[in-house]
Amino acid sequence: MKIVFLGPPGAGKGTQAKLLAERYQIPHISTGDILREVSRNGSPIGQRVRAFMQEGKLVPDEIVTTLVAERMKAKDAQKGFILDGFPRNRTQAESLDSLLTKAGLFIDLVVYFDTQEKKVVSRLAGRLVCKNCGANYHVVNISPRKEGLCDLCGGVLFQREDDQEETVRKRLRVYQEETADLVGYYQNANKLRVVSGDLELKEGQEALVSLFKKERLIRD
Ligand code: AMP
Repeated sequence: MKIVFLGPPGAGKGTQAKLLAERYQIPHISTGDILREVSRNGSPIGQRVRAFMQEGKLVPDEIVTTLVAERMKAKDAQKGFILDGFPRNRTQAESLDSLLTKAGLFIDLVVYFDTQEKKVVSRLAGRLVCKNCGANYHVVNISPRKEGLCDLCGGVLFQREDDQEETVRKRLRVYQEETADLVGYYQNANKLRVVSGDLELKEGQEALVSLFKKERLIRD
């Protein structure tokens, strides 16, 4: 299955994608994760990427598209993937279309996580991420068994630089201005399906699995 997760930051795309990737043994390709790794490597390009991310702005298309193209060439992505955080504007969507067409592939489905702004601000402002494995927690809603440590690998939990409230609001504005338009783009292509981004973890997972069954991407 080749799926795109679309929706504002904090709608649960990454958390749900991680669970599904494990369940169906396909890679979760998150451009946010890839860019965070690049931003940590200290290279000139890494420093440029970091500056965009710290401000909550989109990283230039040519950088992101090149990284995605490289990642999608890897062997593990040939049987399917969940793309999370890409595309984020029409130029990226068209690049994705042409990348896939060249490889004789196409997107099965675009899942739009529909959510309310107040919900995502509270989710992101309370989000904690494992430094080691990237698992997500929340100070109130998904607290780890041991404070400050990941349940899965024991890694240290931290707050992302761009999850401070002011940057969160900026990221939501950027989403409205640059990414929201993709809902129409994929609706026109008859690829768009909507799930609620306001559901709790387990209900959200169930909604996605039943959508995939309905669309015959997985068997009962
Ligand atoms: P995310 O983890 O998806 O919330 O992304 C975190 C940050 O990475 C965003 O605020 C952007 O600065 C950058 N980013 C992630 N994906 C993209 C993309 N497809 N295009 C441009 N910038 C991106």
